[in-house]
Amino acid sequence: MCGIVAYVGHRKAHEVIIKGLKRLEYRGYDSAGIALLNNGLNIYKKKGKVSELENFIHEQELTSTIGIGHTRWATHGEPNDINAHPHYSHSKNLAIIHNGIIENYSSLKQELINKGHVFTSETDSEVFIHFIEDIQINNNCTLDEAVRLALTKVVGAYAIVIMSKDDPSLLIAARKGSPLVIGVGENEFFLASDATPIIEYTNEVVYLNEYEIAVINNNELKIKNTQDVPLTPYIQTLDMELEAIEKGGYEHFMLKEIFEQPKSISDCMRGRLDANEGRLVLGGIREYANKLVNADRIIIVACGTSWHAGLVAEYFFEEFCRIPVEVEYASEFRYRNPIINEGDVVIAISQSGETADTLAAIELAKSKGAIIFGVCNVVGSSIARTSHEGAYTHAGPEIGVASTKAFTAQLTVLNMIALRVAHKKGTISERRYRELLVELENIPSKVEKALKLEPQIKEIAELFKDARNFLYLGRGFNFPVALEG
Ligand code: GLU
Repeated sequence: MCGIVAYVGHRKAHEVIIKGLKRLEYRGYDSAGIALLNNGLNIYKKKGKVSELENFIHEQELTSTIGIGHTRWATHGEPNDINAHPHYSHSKNLAIIHNGIIENYSSLKQELINKGHVFTSETDSEVFIHFIEDIQINNNCTLDEAVRLALTKVVGAYAIVIMSKDDPSLLIAARKGSPLVIGVGENEFFLASDATPIIEYTNEVVYLNEYEIAVINNNELKIKNTQDVPLTPYIQTLDMELEAIEKGGYEHFMLKEIFEQPKSISDCMRGRLDANEGRLVLGGIREYANKLVNADRIIIVACGTSWHAGLVAEYFFEEFCRIPVEVEYASEFRYRNPIINEGDVVIAISQSGETADTLAAIELAKSKGAIIFGVCNVVGSSIARTSHEGAYTHAGPEIGVASTKAFTAQLTVLNMIALRVAHKKGTISERRYRELLVELENIPSKVEKALKLEPQIKEIAELFKDARNFLYLGRGFNFPVALEG
């Protein structure tokens, strides 16, 4: 995973980009770099965190109003100054930032080496930009056409942004498998892996879809797909507060997010649950609600923490709804030939809504006729858009790498779905249903009480922080929770 940020407009690009990269550091932090147009196309990059890059460019007179930046988590080539992004093309007229993996990069690289290309890094991303330039020269075409043609040949995942030495108002971006959001300001555009670097400037955004190419030229945004079909950009207004993505006095995002749980769990239930009235409404599950109620089997697909949330949900659905559940690791599911019968429904869980394996698992299940319910945190994310129906967790942005509030919000939403289904199905008594709604509503205040133990928790942490191994024990619902530990 990597974070990418790009800007074109009237501000100093490096200021927007450095600030944005800091917000995306959770996506990668082994090295960082930036390309700007200051008397030519210049790339500055450094191993280490974004602050290292910031210190490195500090003394320079940088006035460029266009630029691309990257914070890396290496997949190809060790983390060092050379492998850091951006990367130049062969002529050094183009620069690229890339988040993803080009699976056929070594054969492309060999072809280009045979043609005389010299590579400085070990990355797949450098091959990508050399390849694009080679296509442009051979076909004598525009840069965006060369990008399009290249995308029909590369195999793998990418979110890319490219800039050119020859055009100070041009940025070309594309995505497949990795996320990319475009912020539309007044005579300025922002591009980033998620909306957090954008939100302080504008809340008007366009989420680029799979296989789409965005061309920003002379203050105009045009979108087409890799088949060269022009598309109308769908601009949506984001409902996100700047404070939600700042540390707010905490030393670390993870600590802040742990302490946000009473609020995030309440937010997750807000407008959905009223224990007094015995009401539980999930606005995003309507048309297909009966599919869930009448499901012969529920297949949950997810990865990592979300998979653990799915394992807890297995207990919810089996106990309350008496529906058999299978929890699948999305990466395994997608590479099998899974049996999906009529009457099966799929629940896909992902905090970011961009987990590549979960997305691929959804596509596979869809191709076999399954109805998909998405449980995601990020509004407008790919999984949210590709699911038939679903429920957002509304936990707010989670920046910490280890999941905290997103996990507990997932459990809350999954519990609500299971209770709703059980009630409709009649597999739970009215009394037990009411009791559980009250219990659910009381959870935020119980979490608040638990968090008051912070001083004691800190003492325990001091005692154990250097332990080399830790054994987590749990039974029933707490078994998957122990796994998450
Ligand atoms: N494959 C690229 C590299 O190794 C990008 C890494 C990523 O986005 O995960 O530099």
